[in-house]
Parts: sequence; C-alpha cells; structure tokens
Amino acid sequence: MTMTLDETLALASISHGTVIDHIPAGQGMRLHRLLQLDNAKVCVTIGLNLYSPTMGKKDMIKIEGIELSPEAASKLAVFAPSTTIAIIKNSEVAGKFSVSMPEVIADVIQCPNPMCVTNYEKTDRLFYVNPAGKNNFLRCKYCEKTYMQDEII
Ligand SMILES: [Zn+2]
Repeated sequence: MTMTLDETLALASISHGTVIDHIPAGQGMRLHRLLQLDNAKVCVTIGLNLYSPTMGKKDMIKIEGIELSPEAASKLAVFAPSTTIAIIKNSEVAGKFSVSMPEVIADVIQCPNPMCVTNYEKTDRLFYVNPAGKNNFLRCKYCEKTYMQDEII
C-alpha cells in the first residue's frame, strides 16, 4: 500500500513524527482518544472523510514529534485493523508498518459497565481482545463482561 502524492498532501506535512493512515472513516476521533493525544501537548492534525482511492473515504492522523512504536500502535488494530503507520524523519518516510492485533489493551479503555470496579476504584483497566476467538469483541478482565468494539468509548 503506497501513499499517492494526493493522499500524502491532504494534510499539512510533518518533518518528524508519525502518520496514521488508512483509518476507516468515522474512527479517527476514537483513535485520537485511544492514543491519549489530547494530553500529549504535541502538534496533531486530524483529517476526517478524506478521499481514498482504495477505501472511498478514510481518516488520517499526523502527529508531530512522536514516533509511535508498534506496541503503542497495536491498540488501534481493534478499531482500525487496516491502519498503516509511517514514521517520518527529516520530512521523509523512514519506516512503515501495519498495526497488529494485540492480546490485551491496558489502561486506555473505560469499561461500559457502570457497576464495574474499574469505574469507581482506582484500578488498572485491562481488556482481552477477541476473547475465545470472537472477532471484534473485547472482554473486561474485572467484570468479565464482553463488549462489541462499537460499544467501547
Ligand atoms: Zn468491567
């Protein structure tokens, strides 16, 4: 999957950081929350419903100054498995990778169950991804409830 010039230029380019591309349209803001970028104090550009020749519409996030690790990017796979990550150095693509599905997601997801202990005590949050082989599901370690990915956040 190579980015065409048009796609690359759809958002202002960055000199050093990360481009998260091929996000399914509608998931961009969710990925932004998952990455906790509102606390990051770095320059973030988000494009929603951009034209994509392969996807029709897509979202894209550019983060100046942060190189996302494959581990950090893997939590995006649950909501956007087709997403590709490009690391930018000196205004050029220095590396690319696809997101891989993690086994667990820690800390970033709030459990939708209001009775769950993680919502009223300061406890680590942990979700199992695709429990028992069920695709697009997440299970809370603490209340053991299973949620479809669309019910999260
Ligand atoms: Zn829970």
